[in-house]
Amino acid sequence: MLSWNIGRAKITSIVESETPTSPRFMYKDMTKVEVLQRAEKAPWLRPHFISDDGYLLQKIQCLIVEIGDFKVAVDTCIGNDKERTNELWSHLQGPFLEDMTKAGYPPESITHVVCTHLHVDHVGWNTRLVDGEWVPTFPNARYLFVDSEFDHWETAESLFDGEDVFGDSVAPIAAAGLSDRVAIDHRLSDNLCFQPTPGHTPGHISLVIESEGEKAIITGDMTHNPLQIADPDLSSMFDTDMDAARTTRRAVFPGWADGKTLIIGTHFGSPTAGTMSPDGDGYKLDV
Ligand SMILES: [Zn+2]
Repeated sequence: MLSWNIGRAKITSIVESETPTSPRFMYKDMTKVEVLQRAEKAPWLRPHFISDDGYLLQKIQCLIVEIGDFKVAVDTCIGNDKERTNELWSHLQGPFLEDMTKAGYPPESITHVVCTHLHVDHVGWNTRLVDGEWVPTFPNARYLFVDSEFDHWETAESLFDGEDVFGDSVAPIAAAGLSDRVAIDHRLSDNLCFQPTPGHTPGHISLVIESEGEKAIITGDMTHNPLQIADPDLSSMFDTDMDAARTTRRAVFPGWADGKTLIIGTHFGSPTAGTMSPDGDGYKLDV
């Protein structure tokens, strides 16, 4: 189990699944040959983030940030029992909550839930199925939803046809009175604040963690794979607004690429985190 210390903060990864992903799933028309060509120009991408046969090495994980009295679950994966269009994600029966508990974080210990955005693989464990009803998994937490993100997905279709992600994983939280709608630059404490990174979705945020002069950033999906660190202009097919996503990466990466800030990629394969520095027209991640 991966974890990192940033000053007094401890960040722990709870992995729900880790599978090589076809580049065509993430980046329109991108072949495995093209991925390997890109990795030749940016050799640091291998072996951690690109496989020898051109697959993207990715995971779905929740990152738990503990500092002081805060135990914040950042992004809650796919979840169990959900009816999903992607059959790899439908009606899961995984040990995610047991893994969290073994790591020292039983569900009732979580004080806040932060969803970087409201896509299917970031909200699933917000709720769990009890007697046929979707109930909040983290009964003592405040769930923080960015206003513009909540408003968008309340009326928009889910990312994939035939599933109701908002209905089973977000609406029940609001109905239970556990949700707080917050601004896109919300600050939770002296140590934790949102950085607006819109484009992948309208109200997408990254989470900034600062303690005792050290700093880390949890990216969310403003970058799915470090291919987009090497080439910030590369947008994912799942971006609501591909141009805005590009503009966001070009705007925030110069501030992140100081060689010191720990960049923790929400979907990056292990070791999942590193420091960024400029590299040609893009950047590189040193792990
Ligand atoms: Zn995602």
